[in-house]
Amino acid sequence: MAEEMPGGCACGRVRYSVNIADDDAYLCHCRMCQRATGSIAIAFKNVKQRDVKWQGEPDWYDSAPIAARLYCRECGSSLGFQFKQGSENMDLTVASFDDPSRFRPTHHFGAEGIHRDWVNTEGLPQTRTDEHKPLVEKWIAATGKFPG
Ligand SMILES: [Zn+2]
Repeated sequence: MAEEMPGGCACGRVRYSVNIADDDAYLCHCRMCQRATGSIAIAFKNVKQRDVKWQGEPDWYDSAPIAARLYCRECGSSLGFQFKQGSENMDLTVASFDDPSRFRPTHHFGAEGIHRDWVNTEGLPQTRTDEHKPLVEKWIAATGKFPG
């Protein structure tokens, strides 16, 4: 279902809304995306450039001779990827959406960079942030509440 979905960086300086037509998203495992995001893989939603409306412009840097990446210079959030030429599309980072929950991974890209041990982690022990007492206590001491 087509829907206008908002997103942005961690500090809120960069904000966007984008028309989303479907739930399809993907993981990129290429070494450049790993380096650029500091992540084992990055979840991207491919969108039309013309469908993105910015409220608070992103910052850009040339990440390769053929590509640029958008981010926020204040908080460092990684917001996406775009080829410099030849495409009407761009990628937005799935986790920069205010509600990333509707998206589903449909494929892996940059498969040569996949770290297999990190792909299926379903059986590992899980701890919620609000169950981790030292973290909750730090937040309470600093701000009076836990942001959840
Ligand atoms: Zn920011």
